[in-house]
Amino acid sequence: MKTIPITPVPLDEVDMALFEERRKIYPRLQKGWFASWRWVLVFFTQALFYGTAWLSWNDRQAVLFDLVHRKFYIFGMVLWPQDFIYLSVLLVISALSLFLFTAIAGRLFCGYACPQTVYTEIFMWIENKIEGDRNARMKLDEAPMSASKLRKKALKHGAWLVLALWTGFTFVGYFTPIHSLAEEVFTFTLGPWETFWLLFYGFATYGNAGFMREQVCKYMCPYARFQSAMFDRDTLIVTYDTQRGEPRGGRNKKVDYKAQGLGSCVDCNICVQVCPTGIDIRDGLQYECIACGACIDGCDQVMEKMNYPKGLIRYTTEHALDSGLTPKEMWQRVFRLRTLIYSGILGLIILAAALSLAYHVPLKVDVIRDRSVPKIVDEGAIENVYKLQLMNTQESARQFQISVNGINGASIVSESQVSLKSASGKAVAVRVRIPAHAAEKGSNRIRFVVTDTETPAVSVTEKAVFLVPH
Ligand code: SF4
Ligand code: SF4
Repeated sequence: MKTIPITPVPLDEVDMALFEERRKIYPRLQKGWFASWRWVLVFFTQALFYGTAWLSWNDRQAVLFDLVHRKFYIFGMVLWPQDFIYLSVLLVISALSLFLFTAIAGRLFCGYACPQTVYTEIFMWIENKIEGDRNARMKLDEAPMSASKLRKKALKHGAWLVLALWTGFTFVGYFTPIHSLAEEVFTFTLGPWETFWLLFYGFATYGNAGFMREQVCKYMCPYARFQSAMFDRDTLIVTYDTQRGEPRGGRNKKVDYKAQGLGSCVDCNICVQVCPTGIDIRDGLQYECIACGACIDGCDQVMEKMNYPKGLIRYTTEHALDSGLTPKEMWQRVFRLRTLIYSGILGLIILAAALSLAYHVPLKVDVIRDRSVPKIVDEGAIENVYKLQLMNTQESARQFQISVNGINGASIVSESQVSLKSASGKAVAVRVRIPAHAAEKGSNRIRFVVTDTETPAVSVTEKAVFLVPH
């Protein structure tokens, strides 16, 4: 067999890049139906984020995750570490919602509500206001440094930094009371952890929305990678109608393009220029597409000018495109068995969580039996000692009555009334005594009942073991 000699190439001569070289994207700001919806969501999510931190409830911050005192305040609710289950339920609901919305309409979350998209949109708007439109920005970047360029760049970065730091401040304000945080910022008395998180979150916003932009979606976001597992042929995606659009090409508006053998795409490149991730949707579905709909708005406007029907790029399904389904048939398949099952499970979990919250008793009781040996006291009566950890999760001081049952004649011989301040806990030592021969030797089941003296409906029963010595 003849062997072909291979000449080794020295490693230092191999020209190879480990990463795709970054091409700066200058997205053109686009107006239209989808752009308006994106802005509605930008306003809504940001009003919620920046505004909620300043709301008050019962003379305290309405939403505060007080990590130091391990209490979470959410309007009228006070959650303790024992209520961690609600956080888990919230995570399950978020994950299921993401599956559901992705199965129905692809990366809807990415295009409209993801913080990366929302802040990039705001940062791009600032950039556009200061440096001008797409062409002006490209020219400015190519131009040599001048006083005007320096002024524009400084103004843009200044505005970005103010917004980013305000975002970091608001974020920390959900963990440290925001009014005292503001005071500490203005009197330069901010603690080291608060300073760290404020700057960390601020600079993360500045870096991700100002510089990284589409790189975060392309390389850092795991969702972009596993979303395809949730897609099927009936998922709504932003698609270019190749059959209708090709062959693409420039043409005179007045001539019949069909007679010239052309499709509807005039090859104006608007869809590429408006794309925040810099892709060409005409190349087919790509994982970089965040389904923002900017290319739909851009293309629809071109179609309108050309007097062609809109929708050359549109939200549709693979199934509808391939089989020429009518919109009604397409929507019937969008709400298919898979999405109905997701919706059913999601609905049930939300209902269960809502009911559990509605019947949430604002009192928690933990009982621990003291390790001391049971004591035999007067006339053969036996005493066991317990530690009751009580937590009043109401936002008013309460008085609780402790009682015990389960063994005939069992009674509490220590203090049985306990006062607790609002949203506070207390450990109480309780001595339980039973008459001689009232229970078998060994372990006997008893129950502690703790009841709010003003509101008897607020009552918790906890089991415990009473030991009778042999
Ligand atoms: S905007 Fe529409 S017409 Fe223009 S290039 Fe894109 S698909 Fe073709
Ligand atoms: S291809 Fe269209 S929908 Fe996808 S990211 Fe680009 S502009 Fe948005």
